[in-house]
Amino acid sequence: MSTPRWRTRFAPAPTGWLHLGHVLNAITVWGMARAYGGSVLLRIEDHDRRRCKPDYEAGIREDLAWLGFTPDDEAPRQSMRGDRYAELLSALESRDLVYACSCSRREIAGGAGERHLELVYPGTCRTRHLDSDTTAARRVRLVEAAQSFADVRGGSMTQTPALQCGDLLVRDRDAQWTYQFAVTVDDMDQGIDLVIRGEDLLTSTGRQLQLAQLLGRPQPARFLHHGLIRHDDGEKLSKSRGDTGVRELRNAGATAAEVIGAAAYAGGLIGRAVPVLAGDVGALFAGGASFDHLPSGQNLSPVGKVPTAWPHPHGRL
Ligand SMILES: [Zn+2]
Repeated sequence: MSTPRWRTRFAPAPTGWLHLGHVLNAITVWGMARAYGGSVLLRIEDHDRRRCKPDYEAGIREDLAWLGFTPDDEAPRQSMRGDRYAELLSALESRDLVYACSCSRREIAGGAGERHLELVYPGTCRTRHLDSDTTAARRVRLVEAAQSFADVRGGSMTQTPALQCGDLLVRDRDAQWTYQFAVTVDDMDQGIDLVIRGEDLLTSTGRQLQLAQLLGRPQPARFLHHGLIRHDDGEKLSKSRGDTGVRELRNAGATAAEVIGAAAYAGGLIGRAVPVLAGDVGALFAGGASFDHLPSGQNLSPVGKVPTAWPHPHGRL
């Protein structure tokens, strides 16, 4: 195999077991990398230590190996990267781009916020000049600017993070680094060219691009948001609903190829639930015309084998 020209990542949080939604993400990550000459970095996203458990991490690794998805490389876990996050936070602070915030979620919601809606931080502490001893929480000032990007699947998009979420929380009141900050720093430091994730995270792409810019990332990451596996009622899979876990399917006697095939089918990648080996997922993506300019302007030509008799593909992602 030729030297990989670009890098993507599979980045599970050890807060639960792998389910079919994760498998669909793994199929897309490994599929794109194998089809277009990229490499896959595994990153354990344990930035929020309150919710992560070693058992879950061990289970994720075991399930991934059982499925047959082998990463090309592994990043240091996020809980080991606190010094680096602190260093970059200080750099932002020295440019007066960060301020301390003591607001609770309830205060931000003002009693009127609906639980499922994203809260827009109104900038309450922007001009309060709180002593940094008062709270561990820090926010990055965002200017009200539109952020445009080209999603590899969805095409051109524009978001205005300052209006969607307000100044970005990078560390919370319990001194835990936020998801947005940790992944943006990691994607920059680890040279991730293409971020592949579910469309439920699409709303946060603009803010990650703006944050990466403030952090001094020279070339922004490209993003590909894939569809989600949903229940008949439209709800996405989640561990809280006890959704189809990889280990339950495995214990029930399913083969790895059957589990991958089920996720690919449920995610609309193939027209019938046929077994798919992890080593063959590149074929699901090879030759996709919409990936011609991936990533960072490199013209990628498929290197994976092109399927000749794939059953009724309906939509490539
Ligand atoms: Zn505040």
